[in-house]
Amino acid sequence: MQNILDPKVLEQFRQEHKLQPYRIRQIEQEIFHNANIDFADMTTLSKEMREQLAADFSVVPLTVDRIDECKETSKFLFQTSDGNVVESVLMYHFHKDKKTKKEKLNRMTLCISSQVGCSVGCIFCVTGKMGLKKNLDRTEVLGQVLYVNNYIKKRFGKREDGTLFRVRNIVFMWMGEPMMNYSAVKKTSEYLTDTRYFWLSQRRVTISTSGVIPSMEKFIDDKLPVSLAFSLHAPNQTLREELVPTIAKFYTLDKLMAVLDRYTQETGNEVMYEYVMIKDKNDMHEIAHQTGTLLQGRKAHLNLIPYNENPAIDLEESDAKQIRQFQKIVLSYGVPVTVRENMGREKKSACGQLGYEKVVATLTQQK
Ligand code: SAH
Ligand code: SF4
Repeated sequence: MQNILDPKVLEQFRQEHKLQPYRIRQIEQEIFHNANIDFADMTTLSKEMREQLAADFSVVPLTVDRIDECKETSKFLFQTSDGNVVESVLMYHFHKDKKTKKEKLNRMTLCISSQVGCSVGCIFCVTGKMGLKKNLDRTEVLGQVLYVNNYIKKRFGKREDGTLFRVRNIVFMWMGEPMMNYSAVKKTSEYLTDTRYFWLSQRRVTISTSGVIPSMEKFIDDKLPVSLAFSLHAPNQTLREELVPTIAKFYTLDKLMAVLDRYTQETGNEVMYEYVMIKDKNDMHEIAHQTGTLLQGRKAHLNLIPYNENPAIDLEESDAKQIRQFQKIVLSYGVPVTVRENMGREKKSACGQLGYEKVVATLTQQK
């Protein structure tokens, strides 16, 4: 079965069935605007056309194995047509309604995967322990977003203003290293921001990288209309090589900072620096001073992520007090610092807890 997101294939279908060109736009509207993924639900199309499309095409090339739901997150376990497991996590952000004082769903962020597994092997990350199994293609990455928007529509329906609830922010922060699957991630980002398709603004799509310089250079040259997050984790080369063992040796911190400076100079955008807080590894006061010195004067925002513990990995989360002190020290250098709230821990949907059951079972056997 072919995927409908291939414009060439769709055009061929249009010509074969002698359809007017505006029909293509109608199909796109059904998928991207009305959040439909089953042709049967696309009621602005004729019944005959829906049947013809259903016979030839799929919209989402993934099947859903399971959805784990809790108040703050829903975790989706997909399977690709070649039997690999892909995960995405939807995070719900609530706010208190001033009049009723009740909590109300405000917005939703979707954390998507760009690869199955990852070859970078950061010592604190479960995906890294899996090694790289597969690069996802554009339709498999977009499929995660299309499926989840359809899920949201079915679950939450419309807002008070009559528009559909849908994913507002997308971050490439679940499985995989997006810069090691750059061409698929580039195409996906173009769809996510194109007014014809998902129409998300640059600020609302973020690619997170552990620092793969050649793709980061391409990303800057291509002027990809999305935001950039860099997983720093350590303010000096020795510590970084310990935490991000495979690539930190040749993509050194000095070289990375130079590329990130070029990014901020050419785009005017700030870089979000992510920093996983691991007890007695990278959370000491002296390291906080080094981090402050490194980021001082740069267009940077530091996001401290309390390490999510995992039985397969012998590392501990930093104490809350230590995280606050680290934050205070870096702030004293004039660098904005936030601490990420840990959503979804109970359902193993927080960063680093993906693929949990399967991976942990294998790793604890190996240990
Ligand atoms: N490969 C990319 C994007 C996916 S990982 C990258 O590394 O940036 C997204 C974020 O989750 C990274 O900042 C990563 O450091 C963080 N992460 C991974 N394992 C984690 C864990 N156990 N606890 C907290 N954050 C984790
Ligand atoms: Fe790969 Fe990112 Fe995990 Fe490191 S943190 S192993 S780069 S997914």
